[in-house]
Amino acid sequence: MSRRREGRGEPAAEVMGVALSHPDKVLWPGSADRDAPITKLDLARYFEAVGGWMLPHLQGRPCSLLRAPDGVGGETFFQRHAGAGTSDRFSQVRIRGDDAPYLQIDDLEALVASAQLGVIELHPWNCRPGDPETPGRLVFDLDPGPEVAFDAVVEAAQAIAERLTALGLTPFCKTTGGKGLHVVTPLTLEPRISWPMAKGFARRVCADLAGEAPDRYLIRMSRAARGGRIFLDYLRNDRTATAVAPLSPRARDGACVSMPLTWDEVKAGLDPRRYTVRTAPGLLAASTAWAGYDQAERPLSEAIRRQAAQGADLG
Ligand code: ATP
Ligand code: MN
Repeated sequence: MSRRREGRGEPAAEVMGVALSHPDKVLWPGSADRDAPITKLDLARYFEAVGGWMLPHLQGRPCSLLRAPDGVGGETFFQRHAGAGTSDRFSQVRIRGDDAPYLQIDDLEALVASAQLGVIELHPWNCRPGDPETPGRLVFDLDPGPEVAFDAVVEAAQAIAERLTALGLTPFCKTTGGKGLHVVTPLTLEPRISWPMAKGFARRVCADLAGEAPDRYLIRMSRAARGGRIFLDYLRNDRTATAVAPLSPRARDGACVSMPLTWDEVKAGLDPRRYTVRTAPGLLAASTAWAGYDQAERPLSEAIRRQAAQGADLG
């Protein structure tokens, strides 16, 4: 559903009814040994291709946008509020305690409109759709230190998943498009589930794991202390905190994306750099990753009870 018109002056293009200015603007430079550059039009078509899969993870949640109007080598900035020149295809949502409305992506046109704005990364809240005050999923962000082999990050994701499963939750995994992995688990809507409860629970899952293998994991932020260890970041699980959306590209060399995986794929030898703006649409069409996500919501209250009981067992 895209068309392209070469006229006098600027070539114009349109994807999903969204007009693109400067469609040939290079967002990710190519390289002699790798692929051709990826343009704004390529990005719009990418969003068109994977948008149906992405949208349920974006809809109804405030979303920070990382913009790179001159491509990944140029200046980048995060935008969470509507501003001058923001497309009216975005929804705007009011958040308690902030006078300025937040941006939200609720349909395919808004996603394609992000490409027009040079938006390369999408970072939604992890709240329930339509309810910023209620956690809707937990995200465990595994951040390897510079000396960590990727296979060790894979083992960390498996270890977190095992713990979540034992607590009655259903974990899913994705690459981040960067250095680590994210483990994501959707939560049932329950009364009185709060951000402090989500964060406290996630902190303890991470602290327990780090406590058992302090040579491999840590839960303190200090970058200097990381070295050969993996930082288990539970802080995505808070009001106003974000995590990169599944299938969001990254403003880094190689145009990698945050790729949803099956647990079979989360094994030694996993190479996150395989998943790019070019390759992800085809790989996704052939994948069963995150199948059953919609039926996978589990109650956090029960997981918290089990976690407390485990603590009691240990004395
Ligand atoms: P990696 O695997 O390379 O760590 P990541 O997506 O986990 O990739 P982090 O650097 O660990 O990246 O950042 C964690 C999260 O913090 C991001 O996913 C993002 O949602 C959030 N974040 C970071 N900077 C900002 C910002 N300026 N505004 C909004 N969210 C941000
Ligand atoms: Mn991370």
